[in-house]
Amino acid sequence: MPDGIIYLVGAGPGDPGLITLRGIECLRQAQVVVYDYLANEQLLNHAPPDAERIYAGKIGGRHNQEQEEINRLLVEKGQQGKIVVRLKGGDPFVFGRGGEECEALALAGLPFEVVPGVTAAVGAAAYAGIPLTHRDFTASVAFVTGQEGKDKSESGIDWDRLSLGDGTVVFYMGITSLRRNMQRMSKHGRDPHTPVALVRWATTSRQQVLTGTLADIADKAEKSGFKPPAITIVGDVVNLRDKLRWFDSRPLSGRRIVVTRAADQAGEFSSMLTSSGATIFECATIKLVEPESWDELDAAIGTLAGFDWLVLTSGNAVRFFFQRLNALGFDARALGRCKVCAVGPKTAEAIREHGIRPDLVPADYKAEGVVSEFARLDMIGKKVLFPRADRAREVIPSNLEQMGAQVTAPVAYRNILPDRLCPEALLALEKRCIDCITFTSSSTVLNLAELLGADLLADMLKGVAVASIGPITSRTCRDLGLKVDIEPQEYTLSSLNAAIQQYFSLPAH
Ligand code: SAH
Repeated sequence: MPDGIIYLVGAGPGDPGLITLRGIECLRQAQVVVYDYLANEQLLNHAPPDAERIYAGKIGGRHNQEQEEINRLLVEKGQQGKIVVRLKGGDPFVFGRGGEECEALALAGLPFEVVPGVTAAVGAAAYAGIPLTHRDFTASVAFVTGQEGKDKSESGIDWDRLSLGDGTVVFYMGITSLRRNMQRMSKHGRDPHTPVALVRWATTSRQQVLTGTLADIADKAEKSGFKPPAITIVGDVVNLRDKLRWFDSRPLSGRRIVVTRAADQAGEFSSMLTSSGATIFECATIKLVEPESWDELDAAIGTLAGFDWLVLTSGNAVRFFFQRLNALGFDARALGRCKVCAVGPKTAEAIREHGIRPDLVPADYKAEGVVSEFARLDMIGKKVLFPRADRAREVIPSNLEQMGAQVTAPVAYRNILPDRLCPEALLALEKRCIDCITFTSSSTVLNLAELLGADLLADMLKGVAVASIGPITSRTCRDLGLKVDIEPQEYTLSSLNAAIQQYFSLPAH
């Protein structure tokens, strides 16, 4: 049997974007992933779905016996010829016991590679706005374990050297022994007024920063119940945070937002809000499925070149229409001279991905906008194909028919209720720790009301800012007894994001 290979991969400090490209390449090939408590679980999505996933983490330090078991597991999987990724928080060779794991592999004669990662000190410093070195303050930095000395009577750390001078000192695993370590540094010569920052869950939406001095940080941490995992940064550079903080001063930092959309659609909007600093709870309220019968759409596709206009009013309509076109063995050429209308810029972009430049995009991105554009054209006797959702509004077909057009409106997909709502989002709503909920179509509101009951929904959303993409969705909200706090001028996701930011920038919110 061929020997496997073991990749020790640094997962970075928490933000899943902080893993290296090489790390992702390794994960993509993995047959087995052995991962730690501090490695972000989202990274496991890079591994093939059938890869074996083994959790080897433990909160707050690990006993030697457990470490030996992990070493044995890595050797065993390697000997079975497997491609193994050992995914470790931060960097594998910084307080990660990666050295011991490699020694075990070397002893067993197994090939391994080490992929570095952004270590917690570096990640925390960046996301807290604290440069670890700075020409005006210090020219050195030391990474030190805060737990050292627990089972050794004599400290192996040279506290004199660490404390004298102005070098930045970063403690890992230093929260439980914070008081003792701070006292040691003052005792060995560091000015008790030296600024200190504690950074918990650095680089994630849970990041918390507490600042103080060598003299008072332990009291402050105790008072506020500050818990691990956190790193401690000691040095004058900590003062720079006032000027350089960015991560926790973004427009939506600290805001918790529920995003309701179809499961496969939420990603783009969520990442817009996340990059403005918000913590997102994705709560799919819509499941998109095929129509009960394809007959009507298939018949239309069969005579596509005979239509004058194809009108597409959402990214979903584009997706389902072209999927069906392709499934029937056609491509965009089947459109012949048929012109294409997109409801707005996003739909237009989705259409362009199929090699087609939309002929018409109304200035007002909604059904009424489409209607008023067509009102300027001669539509008498024109054949219009309008593939739609099963519960779509009748605005387009009825108005175009009034203009004399012949409209075919087959169902291209159905919006159905999901089997259940996301438990994390529900729990957060129940605990009343949500700041805002977003609705990007009437179906998202209607479905949520149907799943929860309108009364419970109205009750759960008391004190939560309701953000609606446009007037139609807002009306649905109001019909259900909800008050709409945020509605952008333009019905796009980026405008909704901007309107949410604007709302939360007001002092009253
Ligand atoms: N190999 C890891 C360190 C493992 S030791 C690395 O390179 O980062 C575990 C300690 O790392 C924790 O006790 C804590 O001090 C620190 N740590 C890891 N991830 C952290 C995070 N996201 N925020 C703050 N500290 C973190």
